Amino acid sequence: MFADLHTHTRFSDGTYTPEELAAQARQVGLGAIALTDHDTVEGCPRMAEACAGEGLDFVAGTELTAEQDGSEVHILGYFLAIDHPRLRAEMRRFQQVRQNRIGAMTERLQALGVALTAEQVFAVAQCDSPGRPHVARALVQAGVCRNPDEAFDRFLKQGRPAWVPKCRVSAGDAIALIHEAGGVASLAHPGLLRRDELIPALADLGLDGLECLHSRHTRSQTRRYEEIANECRLLITGGSDCHGLSKGRPLIGTVKLSHHHFERLRDHALTTRRRAPHTASP
Ligand code: AMP
Ligand code: ZN
Ligand code: FE
Ligand code: FE
Repeated sequence: MFADLHTHTRFSDGTYTPEELAAQARQVGLGAIALTDHDTVEGCPRMAEACAGEGLDFVAGTELTAEQDGSEVHILGYFLAIDHPRLRAEMRRFQQVRQNRIGAMTERLQALGVALTAEQVFAVAQCDSPGRPHVARALVQAGVCRNPDEAFDRFLKQGRPAWVPKCRVSAGDAIALIHEAGGVASLAHPGLLRRDELIPALADLGLDGLECLHSRHTRSQTRRYEEIANECRLLITGGSDCHGLSKGRPLIGTVKLSHHHFERLRDHALTTRRRAPHTASP
């Protein structure tokens, strides 16, 4: 077992720095790791350097928030040319949406009598791609909630009073953007999405892979998604979705993709890139 292809750092809502994440990756015996911070590739240069220092194979990636048939879907992009101009421009737009959303969420909280400002959340987040976990941490820091879970349950979950929907690109546009930047696209955690009927449509839109292995998938879910991947001719991907410690332990490396599936994904990225030579440096 070899690769963890779903991880977050402080460049979005993870708690590790790239250096800490790379050190943990080596400690748990990984051979390769992908950084997939939400709607950003800002952490990739530092992560690449840290991985080189630890002797790990590094994959530049991201996790884009997108929409398909009324549901929020997360599209993972791998082997990205992180300096691709349109990728950078689109991500700046996604980040602006996230920053505006923090303001909308704190306004809702204030209307509920919770004195939390957007500035307090930005001070906790200290990144361009803030999200609900940062609001949750700020609510804990302000003494409003005992822990982030309570913050989600009381205020931040879909349907709770401070929840604000995110404007999202269509899944087709997200997949096309990843391809344009020389990358391959995989649907994140289908077991959390629970809309399996969308997978064939996403495959028709050019999706390359399916995240069959995920820390919140059961064994039977993993098996089922591997079958669906085969039926839809999608590559199998997998990762822990590590945001830092989970129940006191690092989540990184708890899900590992085999070397075989990792190589298939990389080969596919290289083939795609040859077909679109204008997109990227190797
Ligand atoms: P956002 O992108 O701002 O909508 O935030 C989504 C992130 O919040 C996910 O990637 C998870 O890390 C985290 N999250 C979502 N739901 C929960 C929950 N119920 N409890 C704790 N964290 C959550
Ligand atoms: Zn996250
Ligand atoms: Fe996700
Ligand atoms: Fe994630």
